[in-house]
Amino acid sequence: MRSYEKSKAAFVEAVDLMPGGVNSPVRAFKSVNLDPIFMESGKGAMITDIDGNEYIDYVLSWGPLILGHSEPKVVQAIQEQAAKATSFGAPSLSENELAKLVMDRVPGVEMIRFVSSGTEATMSALRLARGYTGRDKILKFEGSYHGHGDSLLIKAGSGVATLGLPDSPGVPADIAKNTLTVAYNDLEAAKIVFEKFGSELAAVIVEPVAGNMGVVPPKPEFLTGLRELTEKHGTVLIFDEVMTGFRVDYGCAQGYYGVTPDLTTLGKVIGGGLPVGAFAGKREIMENIAPAGPIYQAGTLSGNPLAMTAGRATLEQLTPDSYEYFKNLGDQLEEGFRAAATKFNIPHTVNRAGSMIGFFFTNENVVDFESAKTSDLALFAEYFKLMAEEGIFLPPSQFEGLFLSTAHTEQHIAKTVAAFHTVFEKLAR
Ligand code: PLP
Repeated sequence: MRSYEKSKAAFVEAVDLMPGGVNSPVRAFKSVNLDPIFMESGKGAMITDIDGNEYIDYVLSWGPLILGHSEPKVVQAIQEQAAKATSFGAPSLSENELAKLVMDRVPGVEMIRFVSSGTEATMSALRLARGYTGRDKILKFEGSYHGHGDSLLIKAGSGVATLGLPDSPGVPADIAKNTLTVAYNDLEAAKIVFEKFGSELAAVIVEPVAGNMGVVPPKPEFLTGLRELTEKHGTVLIFDEVMTGFRVDYGCAQGYYGVTPDLTTLGKVIGGGLPVGAFAGKREIMENIAPAGPIYQAGTLSGNPLAMTAGRATLEQLTPDSYEYFKNLGDQLEEGFRAAATKFNIPHTVNRAGSMIGFFFTNENVVDFESAKTSDLALFAEYFKLMAEEGIFLPPSQFEGLFLSTAHTEQHIAKTVAAFHTVFEKLAR
């Protein structure tokens, strides 16, 4: 048995200092009924906690670390930039460099504005879409997460085309009423919303692969259908690629699926592990942002040189081959999981897109939030705990995907597959 004594003591201290002892809720491990593990260091695919336990890391800071922890060129870029300056509040060349790299690869990006988080990116993209169209309503999909902006913290009322109700105290009903929600992958429901509200819809915001209900890829007609609907009704189509950006493919999910949105939001990978976000898209729309246009958006640390250089060092090392590598590792991980789960009669479904993988403990096809919720959450909690004991660090929630990095090797995958066998044997009893 591993010891977590130092983590336990740190958490006792932390709950007095920060609400729930953490600075972001999912870190509290509540859905797996454990105290959180405090981390100390990371190298490549491995992390070490403050008790000295080592793990193969499939969280990777919730996605950004696509090259693994403390990747030497990223570290060097950060160190060199830190020695020059950490922030100016004036333009610097690092912003141009990262902008060009993103633009070269992502079909829908003609102009970009950097911000400091994914939440800022989606909030700003919505304001832009609303200002540009002169409309207030938006459509999002149940179980999708787009950061914690007021308009986006809405899950659903029941049924199709329900006017949204706030999911969090503090979100004014007056704002929530403008957010409409339907099930992910349900193009027919989206069509009904457009029939009724088409002329009032400023934007549709969608994760082109849903990554916040576990991993749920789009059905073949879903993204193209949304593209057609939004074009017909003069609605801005926003792909939220904060998670999928440079994870699903070299040209992001939009490159992979061949559907180009009007606006794209980015974060995570493009900051190489430093705080970053961006919204980007068609020049004609982007030029409405201040100071080029009247729609206001700003940030003291936006385009921060440290984040820009870390992002650049990261993107420069990703090639189309990286995604072939992820596919190969992903195949091995998926096959290993399926074989172990089948052997021990554990219900399971696997969804994958690029370097994002979702394992569910259900035999149902997972195509939306409702089907994701058929996963056995009690089984998941046990699985999470036992996998940690085997030295495998997974996202502490069924509704989050696993991520791969270029630092993961076939040996890491083999060790993880061996852990699936050990753990499923225990769970089968
Ligand atoms: N959009 C998506 C798709 C995300 O997955 C996330 C975070 O996980 C966000 C937006 C919010 O990003 P941040 O946590 O950087 O504010």
